[in-house]
Amino acid sequence: MVDATPVPSKPEDTAQGRFRAAGRGPWHGVPPEQWDDWRWQLKNRITTLAELERHLALTPEERAGVILSGSRLAMAITPYFFNLIDPADPTCPIRRQIVPRIEEMSFGPEEMEDPCGEDRSMAAPGLVHRYPDRALFLVTDRCAAYCRYCTRSRVVSGAHGHLDADHEAAIRYIAAHPEIRDVLLSGGDPLLFTDEKLDSLLQRLRAIPHVEFLRIGTRIPIFLPQRITPGLVDILRQHHPLWMSVHVNHPRELTAESRAALARLADAGIPLGNQSVLLRGINDSADVMLELVHGLLLCRVRPYYLYQCDLIRGSAHLRTTVREGIDIINDLRGHTTGYAVPQYVVDGPGGGGKIPLNPEYLLAHDGDSIVLRNFKGDIYEYPEAGRPAPLPSRPSRRHDEIVCLGLD
Ligand code: SF4
Repeated sequence: MVDATPVPSKPEDTAQGRFRAAGRGPWHGVPPEQWDDWRWQLKNRITTLAELERHLALTPEERAGVILSGSRLAMAITPYFFNLIDPADPTCPIRRQIVPRIEEMSFGPEEMEDPCGEDRSMAAPGLVHRYPDRALFLVTDRCAAYCRYCTRSRVVSGAHGHLDADHEAAIRYIAAHPEIRDVLLSGGDPLLFTDEKLDSLLQRLRAIPHVEFLRIGTRIPIFLPQRITPGLVDILRQHHPLWMSVHVNHPRELTAESRAALARLADAGIPLGNQSVLLRGINDSADVMLELVHGLLLCRVRPYYLYQCDLIRGSAHLRTTVREGIDIINDLRGHTTGYAVPQYVVDGPGGGGKIPLNPEYLLAHDGDSIVLRNFKGDIYEYPEAGRPAPLPSRPSRRHDEIVCLGLD
């Protein structure tokens, strides 16, 4: 086994010294110009058991998981992201997201290949058209690294299935449907395309008069921040309005490198939102989530969604209860700015779309008034429009201090 001790990360000149560089770890001999080259990072991804064991002492559960991962969801880890793992901690939240485990081979009866029912709404190869005014365009089945809880593990990585992403048929479909004003490019990860290929695809979508709004869903700024080059950013800024959803689950993923990548995107005027997945043992506590959402705001990324983990096959060991998710939101709301509080959602199993989940703030609604609780548990009563103010005997108190929850 070679040196598995990461090079000590160094504090950066960033807010509160919170963002630390990943360091080169076992690759300390690699020249900076290679390390900072996204193609070098991709070429040197860890994809085999032998490569992984060269750098990390695996538990028996991980070893078995890696051996079997080729039949379900392939393993791939960029050297950069690997260096965020604490090799001494088998429960490391970075490690649990990307190192396969044997539990991935246990399938519960409630679990599904396609938990969001995307295949049923496939209007053209790679194009999911479920909502009237927007379409999800799955442009590739490849990612820089593979998340062990991936909702699209049925198609990404090429281990199990493939995505038939025929861009021509999908673009023809979008052009023929004037109701589609919003196209979300996802996959797989669209930012793995070369600059030229991505530019050409965005240009073709932009040329469709009724497509007003483009979005890209990507985990590249987190798995492979070296890919966010000035050249790529110059291309992206040609296609505004273009929004981007990134995917950060744990504050440790916000390194000096990823923060710099996010800053380049934000400086190009790209509004950034984050989509986290609630994962057992990774980010299932209010403390971790608070640190994450505060770190995101410092990176100019708005925490957008917190997803209840989909019922993907082999994901039971990573799923939390819904109650735990609601309790985390309860611990965020009111205790920090509303900009930092993501919307917690569950995707209706089989294709129900995103359904918001909130703590119970509305305690009663009898037609004359609503009874509310605030983040501290204080009770307030608010009269319905056109109704008389509640009588003093009602449970309401401090009528002069009615709190409009959600408007902070
Ligand atoms: S980056 Fe996204 S699409 Fe790729 S493996 Fe992770 S969750 Fe799946």
